[in-house]
Amino acid sequence: MPSFQTSPGTRDILPPQAGRWRAFSAQFADIVESAGYECIIPPMFEDLGVFLRLGDATDVVTKEMYDFEDKGGRRIALRPEHTAGICRAFAQHRPTTPWKVWYSGSNFRYEKAQAGRFRQFDQVGIEVLGSTDPLLDVEVIAMGWQFFESLGLKNVVLMVNSLGDLADRAAYIEALRQYLESRSDELSDEAKATLQRNPLRVLDSKRAQDKPVVIGAPTIAEFLSDEARAHFSTVIAGLDALKIPYTINAGLVRGLDYYQRTVFEFVSTSLDSAQTAVGGGGRYDGLVEDLGGPATPGVGFALGIDRTLLACDSEEVFNMGSPEIDAFIVDVVDGMSALRLSDELRAAGFTVDRAYDGRSMKSQMKVADRSGARVAIIIGPDEAESGNCTVRNLMTSDQSIVVQAELVTHLASIVGERNPRRNTQ
Ligand code: AMP
Repeated sequence: MPSFQTSPGTRDILPPQAGRWRAFSAQFADIVESAGYECIIPPMFEDLGVFLRLGDATDVVTKEMYDFEDKGGRRIALRPEHTAGICRAFAQHRPTTPWKVWYSGSNFRYEKAQAGRFRQFDQVGIEVLGSTDPLLDVEVIAMGWQFFESLGLKNVVLMVNSLGDLADRAAYIEALRQYLESRSDELSDEAKATLQRNPLRVLDSKRAQDKPVVIGAPTIAEFLSDEARAHFSTVIAGLDALKIPYTINAGLVRGLDYYQRTVFEFVSTSLDSAQTAVGGGGRYDGLVEDLGGPATPGVGFALGIDRTLLACDSEEVFNMGSPEIDAFIVDVVDGMSALRLSDELRAAGFTVDRAYDGRSMKSQMKVADRSGARVAIIIGPDEAESGNCTVRNLMTSDQSIVVQAELVTHLASIVGERNPRRNTQ
């Protein structure tokens, strides 16, 4: 047993899985950049006050924040999500609107670690600041939908709802509180405690005991203002126009306090754990102002990388192995030919690996086979002497003697042309 292990709720993302994560973010970037979103990299920690805006009745703020005092006496928190920090960045830098950004990075929440729930977890997401257009909500949802499609996922369900404007939401919360209090003796102890903190969250209860009460609860739809109702109708019309299937879920409230109007969640029906939400988002029209910026509407979403990849595993899509190796160099003389040739071939654009430590021919050939390389380039004393090398096609076992100076052309004839990585002229 080594002295140290990863902390609870954290993991090493090892190869080849880490490569899959990188490809995941790259594919996400490709889709959202095609719609004008640009990459943003906000800091991993901020003044705690930035995140307190997520709501003092939310678990994220009350129980899960990684906050501490730094050596300068500042109250700091590791980000539990990206949206608040991006709104703080907007308020600080005042870019022109609409400001369309995307991100990929880690968040930190002190949660009970379990399958699909970690203390350090990664998300990709987008945010748009500066427009109230309901068709922008549709574009944002469509970005998420298209990304899931591009991964090959078939079992993702989109749920949408409207939380109305602030006043609608406040009136609804009051009505909900009264209703839940009138039936509180039927609720589980956990739901009773949640009711004191945040009645909306009682609607999220997964406990069978709470179900009958939740089913009978008033819904937000009855409390929507005419403007909020019209906004939501346009969102729905836009989803229909793009043929994106959805379910209107009147109980969908989302965890954070800053949402108004449109909220949505992507749920994977392939995940059998309690954690089936692969992503979610919505409109947060008051957040920038809350953070001291100009009144600026916003809308966005975040997708959990861990959970989306779990969904990919269960649907057997977006599989990825280690990167392919074009050639493996076996040098049984002194390693100098391997050093020189691998450098030359990599510069010419090939993927090249080699053995180290002056091992025997047999042991180097074993590593070459294990690497999955398509070709082995072998340098023995004769080859080193004559300036040749033996090229062995590891798929067909064909073998030929090639002048080292012609290796690039010969390798291209077997594995295909590559674009040079460096100009070595
Ligand atoms: P949220 O910011 O809570 O709306 O989460 C958005 C998405 O991030 C969720 O749908 C999950 O896929 C993912 N997520 C949230 N919390 C965690 C966590 N603790 N561990 C892993 N993924 C998470």
